[in-house]
This record gives sequence, C-alpha cells and structure tokens, in this order.
Amino acid sequence: MRVEDLDLGTRWPAKLVANTPLTPPEAREEVRELLFEVDDPERDFRAGQSVAVAVAGPHEFGQQQHVRLYTIARTPAELGPGRFTLCVRRCTFLDPYSGERFPGIASNYLCNLEEGSELPLAGPMGLPFLIPNDPNTPLLIIGLGTGIAPFRAMLRELYEERGWRGEVMLFHGARTGLETLYSGDVAEIAERAAGLSTVSVVSPRPAWGDPEDLSAAIREHRDEVWQLLNEPEIHVYMAGLTWVGEQFDAALAEAAGGSEAWDARKEEIKAAGRWMSLLY
Ligand SMILES: Cc1cc2nc3c(=O)[nH]c(=O)nc-3n(C[C@H](O)[C@H](O)[C@H](O)COP(=O)(O)OP(=O)(O)OC[C@H]3O[C@@H](n4cnc5c(N)ncnc54)[C@H](O)[C@@H]3O)c2cc1C
Repeated sequence: MRVEDLDLGTRWPAKLVANTPLTPPEAREEVRELLFEVDDPERDFRAGQSVAVAVAGPHEFGQQQHVRLYTIARTPAELGPGRFTLCVRRCTFLDPYSGERFPGIASNYLCNLEEGSELPLAGPMGLPFLIPNDPNTPLLIIGLGTGIAPFRAMLRELYEERGWRGEVMLFHGARTGLETLYSGDVAEIAERAAGLSTVSVVSPRPAWGDPEDLSAAIREHRDEVWQLLNEPEIHVYMAGLTWVGEQFDAALAEAAGGSEAWDARKEEIKAAGRWMSLLY
C-alpha cells in the first residue's frame, strides 16, 4: 500500500480519549497507545487494517499535508463500538550532513496530541488479517516492534473467541525488553493457550542501537519453523518495519537449504492466499 495512492476523500472526525505511554521513561524508544472514539458505531476496524492521519502543512518540502498510516491495535470487538487504538512509535531521524536530529512529523504530532483533541482520520484501509475458519489450522506470526499491534487483537480473538487448537508460533520483541510492547498481554495469553509458543526477539547489541536479530531467533528454532512452514495449511502473518521481511527471508533461505527452495515454498503459501504481511 503506497501512501501516495491512498484515497483520503472521506474523512471522519475522531476524538482522542487517552494517550498513554507503552514504554517506560528509561527506554531508548517511546511508543504510545492512542485510544480514539468515533461517533459512528457502525464503522468497523479490524486487526491488520490501518487508518491515515493527515497533518496539515505547509511542511518543509512544500507539501500541504503530511499523510502517514497507523495500524489498528485494539479493535471495537474488544473496546466497544466506535473505539479503537493505535500504537505509535515516536520517530526521529538524523540528518547525515548536519548531524542534527529531526522529529518525524506525523508520529510526533500523534504522540504529543492532547487527550480530548479531535482530528480527521481516513480509512480503515487495507485488508484485515483474516483468520481461517478451521481452529486446528497452524499459524506462524511475526510482529516485531510496533508490528505486534495487530496481533494482540488477533491472539485475543484466537483464544478468547475461537478456542484455537492449532499450533501457533509467535515471534515478537524489540531492541530491548523495555521496548517490547504488550509483553504482559502476550505472556498472559500464552499461559492459557495450550498450542501457542512465543519467541522473544531482542537486539544482540541494544546499547549500539542495532535492530532486533530475527535471523538468530529463527536459526535457533530452525527445525520447528521450517516444519511449521511445510504444514499444508500453514498461514503466515507478518507486520513491522521492512527489514523484518528481509531478515525473515534470509533466515528461511538458510533453513530451506537455499533461497530457491524458500522462494518456491513462499510462493505456494502466497498463491493459496495464506500469506499476509504488513511491512512499512
Ligand atoms: C501500512 C502501514 C502501517 C503502519 N503502522 C504503523 C504503526 O502501527 N505504528 C507506527 O509507529 N508506525 C506505523 N507505520 C509507519 C508510519 O506510517 C510512519 O511512516 C512513521 O510513523 C514515520 O512517520 P513520521 O511522519 O513521524 O516521520 P516522517 O516525517 O515521515 O519521517 C520518516 C522518515 O523519513 C525520512 N525523512 C523525513 N524527512 C527527512 C528529511 N528532511 N531529511 C532526511 N530524511 C527525512 C527519515 O528517514 C525519517 O525517519 C505504518 C506504515 C504503513 C505504511
């Protein structure tokens, strides 16, 4: 989904009810959960879909509005009609020439937004992460950093509403344990969910700011992951920054004994409509 292709024609007002930090003050990164309420109780928001926020300009490069997407974290199914949350990481970037740090426009706008504010949003857009009908279906879920947002709702649905019995393997995490989102919720669900195994992924060198090492985590569980991916009905769900998909492919090429073998298996899963990813 490209931001430039989005239809922002229909916007609807949303009220920010709560803006809560998900990370402790000592964490290197700040992630906040924003609870919104819309007046239209019929408007549905599903795990895997995103909403667009347009920050009015003019901005530095002359654009009149700065549009960015954020994934639905909690859904009306959990919070009640018209309510949903977004999980936003405060972005900053380093200017390679001046060495100065600049705040990302939309993420800082949202992180700083005061409770009670009203803003126009668009969407929801994108296909929701569909859960197969058969509760015995095996699932592989990868949600690193803010990529865990849609899966918290999905895990809840799997175990609290659907009585899932199939094998489910979840890779989740962040650079450090402090930044790992919803780890309490995941641990609580895992305690009660017989078929769910969770793998926590962190950075090998958190002090250097290196990203999480998904490849190492997959290598460590190589046989289980490869076996799961070869289950005929396997469904794969992945969300997070683009490098998550790249590391996943590299690790799986190793597990499969070469990228050709992995590409072939991945294509089969995709062709059957059982591969759902939201990388940004
Ligand atoms: C489908 C989808 C779902 C998403 N879901 C989430 C989510 O749930 N949570 C979340 O936190 N994010 C999510 N994102 C990412 C989010 O949309 C934004 O991309 C992110 O928050 C950064 O936006 P920003 O406006 O804060 O930063 P921007 O102002 O757009 O800056 C972002 C980057 O652009 C570059 N850049 C911008 N300006 C300059 C400049 N002047 N010079 C050099 N480089 C520059 C920098 O590399 C910087 O890191 C999602 C993205 C997509 C596509």
